Amino acid sequence: MKKIGLSEEAQCQMRRMLSQKESNYIRLKRAKMNKAMFLKIKAIGVGAFGEVALVRKIDTNNHLYAMKTLRKTDVLKRNQVAHVKAERDILAEADNEWVVKLYYSFQDKDNLYFVMDYIPGGDLMSLLIKLGIFEEPLARFYIAELVCAVESVHKMGFIHRDIKPDNILIDRDGHIKLTDFGLCTGFRWTHNSKYYQRNGDHSRQDSFDPGEDWTNECRCNNAVGGNCNSLGTTHITGHPPVLKTLERRRRREHQRCLAHSLVGTPNYIAPEVLLRTGYTQLCDWWSVGVILYEMLVGQPPFMANTPAETQYKVINWSTTLQIPNYANLSPEAADLIVRLCTSADQRSGRGGAGELKTHPFFNGVDFEGGLRSKTAPYIPKIRFATDTSNFDPIVPDKLRNSADEDKMDNTLDNGKHPVHAFFEFTFRRFFDDGGHPRMNPDDNEANHGPVYV
Ligand code: ADP
Ligand code: MG
Repeated sequence: MKKIGLSEEAQCQMRRMLSQKESNYIRLKRAKMNKAMFLKIKAIGVGAFGEVALVRKIDTNNHLYAMKTLRKTDVLKRNQVAHVKAERDILAEADNEWVVKLYYSFQDKDNLYFVMDYIPGGDLMSLLIKLGIFEEPLARFYIAELVCAVESVHKMGFIHRDIKPDNILIDRDGHIKLTDFGLCTGFRWTHNSKYYQRNGDHSRQDSFDPGEDWTNECRCNNAVGGNCNSLGTTHITGHPPVLKTLERRRRREHQRCLAHSLVGTPNYIAPEVLLRTGYTQLCDWWSVGVILYEMLVGQPPFMANTPAETQYKVINWSTTLQIPNYANLSPEAADLIVRLCTSADQRSGRGGAGELKTHPFFNGVDFEGGLRSKTAPYIPKIRFATDTSNFDPIVPDKLRNSADEDKMDNTLDNGKHPVHAFFEFTFRRFFDDGGHPRMNPDDNEANHGPVYV
C-alpha cells in the first residue's frame, strides 16, 4: 500500500475492506453446502450424467441459480473424473463474461453439484429448433460472439472440444455464454493423475471413444426410415428441402437425443480429434464452422442416422462436405465455412482468432468496440424471474426421479463407494457480497477471485 502511495486513511479503509472480505470468506467456508439448501423449481436440461435444473437458494435472498447434478457412479464408470474436475476448474477460474459463472460446487454421497448463474434465454439448439434457419445477419452475430468466446477460452489455456449449439446459452440481453466444459482439456493440464481410473491414462477414454456406442441407434425413435440421411449434403439437388416444422423438430430432437447419450454426438467434433492424431486449439474452430453451416443450411453438414455414420462423414470431410446450392449462402459465408471445416494445417485460426475476425464474412462487425455492449438482434422473452419457457420441455422419462435414485446401485464394480475420487471437488466463489449473484453480473468483475476450499 505504501508502494502505490496510498494515504494513511486509504490504507485504513483498505484494511477494513480486506478484513470484511476475510470474515465473509471464513463464514462461507464454515457453511457446509448441501442440496437441501436449494429448492428445485424446474428441470431445464438433461445430460449424460444427470440433469440441470433451475433452483432457488433457500436463504434470506432466495437467489436463482442453475444447478447441474452429476451422478458419481456414472462419472466414474465412464472414466470422466478428470473431465468433471476440469469443468469445475475452468468454470471456477473463469471470471470471463463469455463463460457461465460458477458459484458453488459441492458433493454428497452420490452426486456432484455445480451451482451456476441461471442463463434464462435458452440454448442455441432451442433457437435453431424454433427458427430452423438463421438469416445471415443473425448467424453473423452469434458466430462473431462465438469467435470471441472461444478466443477467451483459448487465452485461458483451455481447449473446449465440445463447442456445439446445446452448450451455447443465450443470456437475458441476447448475448452468448459458453457452458459445459466437461470435455474441456487444457494444454496446461493441472490434474492429478491419480484421478484417472485404472491405467491412469488421460489420453481420452472419453466420449470420443468410437466404440460400440456410436454404432447403436439412439432411443428417441426419431431416426426411423433413414430420414436423417435423406437430406444428406452429398446429394445436391438444387431444390430447397421442404421441411415441415414437425419434421424439423423431430430431427433436432433426434440430434438432442444423441447429444444426451453418454457418448455425445460427433457432429461438431473435428476429424483430428476423432482420429486421435493429435489436436490443438484449432479443433474448436472446426466446430465453429460446423455451427455456421448448421445455422445457414438448417442441419449440420455431417448429419447421418447414426453417430458412426456421422463420424465416417466427418473423417471423410473432403468428399462429404458440400454446401447445397439451395441454401443460397453468400460467398463470404461459404468461404468461411470451408476455411474452418478443413484440415487443421490449413484451417483459419492458425494465426489466432484475429485472423478469423478479419474474414470478409464479418465485414461491419465491430470487434474492437466490444460485442457484448451492443444491442443483440434477438432478445429472448423472459416474462418472470423463474420463466423457463426458452428451454425445450424435458421428456419426463428422461429424468430419473429421486425414488429411482434411491433404488440405484451407487457402488462401483469393485464394490467400493465412489467417494474418494472426488476429494477436493468442493469450491466456493469468494465474493465481496457474501456469495450471491450480482444483479448485473458484468459489474465489477475484477473483484471476484476464486478460492479453493
Ligand atoms: P451436459 O454435460 O449433460 O451436456 P450441460 O452443462 O451442457 O450438460 O447442460 C445441459 C443443458 O442444460 C444445456 O444444454 C442447457 O440447455 C442447460 N443449461 C446448462 N447450464 C445452464 C445454465 N447455467 N443456465 C441455463 N441453462 C443451462
Ligand atoms: Mg452439454
